[in-house]
Amino acid sequence: VCGGGGELVANTAYLRAQRQDRNELRKERLSLTLPLPKSSATLQEAEGKQYESLCEQQPIGRELFRQFLLSCNPQYAAAIEFLDELRGWSSAVDDDQEKARQNLVDKFCHSESRSFLSFLKGDSVETGKCFSNILDESSVNQMREATRDFLRGKPFSEFLRSPFFFRFLQWKEYERQKISDKYFREFRTLGKGGFGEVCAVQVRTTGQMYACKKLDKRRLKKKGGERLALQEKRILAKVNNLFIVNLAYAYENNTHLCLVMDLMNGGDLRFHIYDLGERGIRMNRVVYYAAQMTMGLLHLHSLNIVYRDLKPENVLLDACGHCRLSDLGLAVELPNGKTICQKAGTTGYMAPEMLTQQYYSTSVDWWALGCCIYEMVAARLPFRDFREKVLKSEVTRRTLEDLCKFHHKGFDPTTKDVICCLLKKKVAHRLGCQCDDPRKHPFFKSINFHLLEARRLEPPWMPKPNVVYAKDTNSFNDTSEVGDIELDAKDENFFKEFSTGAVTVSWQKEMIDSGLFDELNRAEKNGHERAMAWK
Ligand code: ADP
Ligand code: MG
Ligand code: MG
Repeated sequence: VCGGGGELVANTAYLRAQRQDRNELRKERLSLTLPLPKSSATLQEAEGKQYESLCEQQPIGRELFRQFLLSCNPQYAAAIEFLDELRGWSSAVDDDQEKARQNLVDKFCHSESRSFLSFLKGDSVETGKCFSNILDESSVNQMREATRDFLRGKPFSEFLRSPFFFRFLQWKEYERQKISDKYFREFRTLGKGGFGEVCAVQVRTTGQMYACKKLDKRRLKKKGGERLALQEKRILAKVNNLFIVNLAYAYENNTHLCLVMDLMNGGDLRFHIYDLGERGIRMNRVVYYAAQMTMGLLHLHSLNIVYRDLKPENVLLDACGHCRLSDLGLAVELPNGKTICQKAGTTGYMAPEMLTQQYYSTSVDWWALGCCIYEMVAARLPFRDFREKVLKSEVTRRTLEDLCKFHHKGFDPTTKDVICCLLKKKVAHRLGCQCDDPRKHPFFKSINFHLLEARRLEPPWMPKPNVVYAKDTNSFNDTSEVGDIELDAKDENFFKEFSTGAVTVSWQKEMIDSGLFDELNRAEKNGHERAMAWK
């Protein structure tokens, strides 16, 4: 498994970092305090005072708003508890759901209960009664909206004048800190891409592990990839989804642009298909990964984003065995029904309509999914054999003219069928390209997508915690020359635009999950006095 001694050292350090040494962390945190809110940008943000953003979308805002409500009065507390429990109820199943429902009714809908939602008057009390009798989606929604409306009013404006909001501004100021290499500890290389390598990193103050994709500035410029890098960053920052690798930081150093993302330490699917002994992946895993890839595609498409680079190498497994789409370097946003005819992607995965330079949109991703399912089973592509030396033009010809053949014995009838449906040469006939739902195909009959989305469907395979699922680091050695590329002011501007630092939702979540949020809040015992002085 391991190469030389260097390899072993690199792997050991990387695996140990994932187990996190609490004492080590404590040392890093000793000198930390929350800054005072001073920058105009922080204040401007607060000026917006959007309830949805401050109290629902941003994890730290949500947490501080909750703490404020719980500390105020029983009625405010009941409102936030109700919203929390409602969330638990909607992701529960069968017996659990019935229990959760009964609990909601007893606790919030009976006037003798301490947590009775007394602000739901008139119609809403009717809604409450309704809720207690039948399990009706729309009455639940009505109650949820009524509760949010209540919180958006007086409680929210009181929150804005409270020390809790001052604390929020402090965290926002902290969030705006400049990010540099010093913020992270660096570990072994995990993979290599077109513009540089991907390595594991750890945030010094929180212990959080991430993957850092480094894009060589000079190579970007030489290959005209600067615009693409910015596009990749923008799209990554926009999508926040369980089935897509999320971005946590974007920053630069002298030589590289860096994208810091969820660490997927289970390796990419290409590695699993070809590099772990027996080639190919077992059928129950193929179905599970294909289902998660489908969810990722559906999410991107719902944002009018075409992925264009779906292939096993870009689908990564996390520590639990869930997979996510990564590498949005070729993704494009196509507003409202617009199409594009640019050829982009990898030979062997490109759809006929793209190869013939016709206008296309999301259809090309469903084609690529067909190729991936085929490849996971057979360890080769539908129109290119494993390690076959063949011209691009021949792969194109086969893609346009040949029928997909199934020589491999691993293909059962439903798998063949889903692949054939995804590999329909005419877009109009292809699965996923009309008003049809690919999740309804019998291939997915074993998958309950509702549970899959709630992360309640156990992965069929889990990575071993003491194994590094990546090739030896020396296989990533860089040989290509960058030559005498000079960087100028225009490049610098572009690099600045790229380097936006922490991504709000991921960063705030990291602060809370790592315990740093609680720790620094506790250290700010005099926060209230500082808040008063600040006003
Ligand atoms: P490129 O755009 O140049 O293809 P990728 O983003 O696909 O670069 O990264 C190259 C390789 O690095 C991937 O195939 C994968 O093996 C590894 N890699 C990328 N992102 C991560 C991540 N978040 N966690 C773990 N490994 C990763
Ligand atoms: Mg890639
Ligand atoms: Mg890429």
